[in-house]
Amino acid sequence: MNPIRKPIIAGNWKMYKTVTDGLALVTALKKELIGVNHADVEVVVCPPFTALYATGTMLQGSSIKLGAQNVHWEKEGAFTGEVAAPMLKESGVNYVIVGHSERRQYFGETNEGVNKRAKAALASGIRPIICVGETLAEREGGHTEKVLETQVRGSLAGLSKDHMAETIIAYEPVWAIGTGKTATTAQAQDTHAFIRGLLGKMFDETVARRARIQYGGSVKPSNARELMSQPDVDGALVGGASLEARSFADIIKNSI
Ligand code: PEP
Repeated sequence: MNPIRKPIIAGNWKMYKTVTDGLALVTALKKELIGVNHADVEVVVCPPFTALYATGTMLQGSSIKLGAQNVHWEKEGAFTGEVAAPMLKESGVNYVIVGHSERRQYFGETNEGVNKRAKAALASGIRPIICVGETLAEREGGHTEKVLETQVRGSLAGLSKDHMAETIIAYEPVWAIGTGKTATTAQAQDTHAFIRGLLGKMFDETVARRARIQYGGSVKPSNARELMSQPDVDGALVGGASLEARSFADIIKNSI
């Protein structure tokens, strides 16, 4: 963790939680977070689309921010099943996850599409959380840096330095998502440092120093503190452990 970058802990609810479930979860989370100083940590919850508006209403007056799990690149149009950035904005959304490995793996999302989605979010005043990460075969084959460089360059193509101040990167090794396997702190730190170095080359040192890079992949209360203590790890994108208020709150508390 670095003093110029406020840690950001985001909960990705994936395709879990009805409206009722979501409201119960944020009610419990708000109670768990009483006493947590939000000047020290930024907290985001990312419900499914159906629960966004109601959850956002419940978050009014709290410091917890609202995130979505995807966004289309057009402002509106005949794109059945898709949701546009202005719709998310009006629903109270502050952040949106783009390029999650499940979207890349099951829905064929490409770096180019991720880039367009991120730009659409930024144009509507929503901060993108851009996910990148290698598969186990890519890591074992020694291709991690090459894969990440392609993903980072492709997903951030054409973004300005101002855009970068609003953009979060989530490094999520695919082999660690939902598997219970976590990258070692050394693997996480080395990879985050690599991504930060790449941002320095693509933009400049200031952008690189300010960019917040989250780690994601089986983050739990028991491993959060060690991961977050790494100098280039600036928060977490949490799946499974964000579905329960106590475990998500404990991750948040262990990240400060
Ligand atoms: C995720 O969905 O982004 C994720 C990291 O999931 P999990 O924490 O369950 O591995």
